[in-house]
Amino acid sequence: MAVTEAGAVLTEAHRTAQLGILESLLRSFEAEWTDEVAFDPAAFASWVAEQAPEVASAYRLSAETAQRYYERFRAAEGVQDPFTSVILDQLDPWAWSESVTRWGPAYVTALVEDGLAEEAAARRSLVALSLDATRTSMAGGRTALAALMQAEPRRVRWARIARARCCAFCAMLASRGPVYSSAWAAGAGRHWHRGCKCTVEPYFGRGRYRLHPTSQQYATMWDNLEYANLNAFRRELEQQRRKEDEAGEGGA
Ligand SMILES: [Zn+2]
Repeated sequence: MAVTEAGAVLTEAHRTAQLGILESLLRSFEAEWTDEVAFDPAAFASWVAEQAPEVASAYRLSAETAQRYYERFRAAEGVQDPFTSVILDQLDPWAWSESVTRWGPAYVTALVEDGLAEEAAARRSLVALSLDATRTSMAGGRTALAALMQAEPRRVRWARIARARCCAFCAMLASRGPVYSSAWAAGAGRHWHRGCKCTVEPYFGRGRYRLHPTSQQYATMWDNLEYANLNAFRRELEQQRRKEDEAGEGGA
């Protein structure tokens, strides 16, 4: 949760902004999606050709949003050194188009041949494309933040900010608070699974870092485990959420 109140507010606003970029991209996916797109190679190709620039522009928007956040967050957290912007990289829409052909009609047809209902098979294709686009477009912001942290004269740590209902892997990483890591880890790569909606918060080492409230919950849960490992943590998380769901249903 940053060191300052202003920083915490900026981080939350940034997370919301990134989710907004993603949601509008996925709405456009959904709006243009038909059964024909799922089953017909030509229709699929033209759907992809139409969506690829959208993915590239979500990537760019995500990167610009992250850079704006970083500049303001840095000032809020009391960093005195002048801010230097970085050149934001672009996403090649063609590369994305190529990479998602594996979720196209051949994939859907194979699912149907394996006995899945057509509607469910078509749905699975859209879900796979959406998860893929989530990682691809959100990499815009993450890569920008990684580059900005890398460009700092001093080494910057960063913490993962996860959702209240994220997966156990992300929850565990969020619970650890700020860690030193390579720009690669903060930006892209295996630290970010498909569909992950986590964001990053830098920590400049000035003042005491306070965990984001959600991360604090995860940290407490982790500390209370008898045997602290990811499987035990996952079970605890699932149990907790089941309890919350039951309480929610009973109460409302
Ligand atoms: Zn995540």
